[in-house]
Amino acid sequence: MNKAKLIVANWKMNFLNQEALNFCKKLIQKRKLIKNKYVICPPTTLIQQLALKFKNISFGSQDCHYDNFGPYTGDISVEMLKNINCKYVIVGHSERRKHHFENQSLLKRKLESVIKSNLLPIYCVGEDIKDKRKGKTNNVLLSQLKNTIPKSNKKKIIIAYEPIWAIGTGLTPTVSEIEKVNLYIKKIITKINSSYKKTLIIYGGSVNNKNSVNFLKSEFIDGLLVGGTSLKVDKFISILNCK
Ligand code: PEP
Repeated sequence: MNKAKLIVANWKMNFLNQEALNFCKKLIQKRKLIKNKYVICPPTTLIQQLALKFKNISFGSQDCHYDNFGPYTGDISVEMLKNINCKYVIVGHSERRKHHFENQSLLKRKLESVIKSNLLPIYCVGEDIKDKRKGKTNNVLLSQLKNTIPKSNKKKIIIAYEPIWAIGTGLTPTVSEIEKVNLYIKKIITKINSSYKKTLIIYGGSVNNKNSVNFLKSEFIDGLLVGGTSLKVDKFISILNCK
């Protein structure tokens, strides 16, 4: 039997209170069917009330600031997320790199802050379509990893391989393409620090309740980061049921 995988729901900027509550209630009602581990990353405004009400669900944030307190209008720190029972933080999602101009030195500080606070970072990396066409996927990943991942860390991190061209497009790499990339990522991070040997490397980009079946069969894909389909509770549950 395959081991349980990690499924991360990235709700992005979607759902108000009632929809979020209904979604989580349904997850709890169907808990006996669920075979994989999962994390829900709602908009920050919803985390506290969901985490208080649904103690058996793990919640994550979609972003954080690198400092704990200070003059950063509109930002949310890891200490604040920890204070509302958030356990995971997505760092470096391509939408934040694009719309908020997040660069590698900023992401390095965010990763350090998440790790220092004992939360689990889900660090997103991946190439755009131009780099893919030029055959530069590995170069992009090497730069994204070696310039950001802390060298002397002994705590766990999670890496999400999210090719930008696959996010929200309906396009995905093949299972064997993802496997090759995941093995490459594992090789790079293990060179950075041998304690990253057991790091979970998950895949994200246009995952749905159908293609997830093949992704989850692979022993080199440790889980999935799901955007659009994580807003459809029945389809999301069918990904959670799949082993
Ligand atoms: C994402 O944004 O992380 C993502 C994987 O989105 P989607 O599943 O909608 O492609």
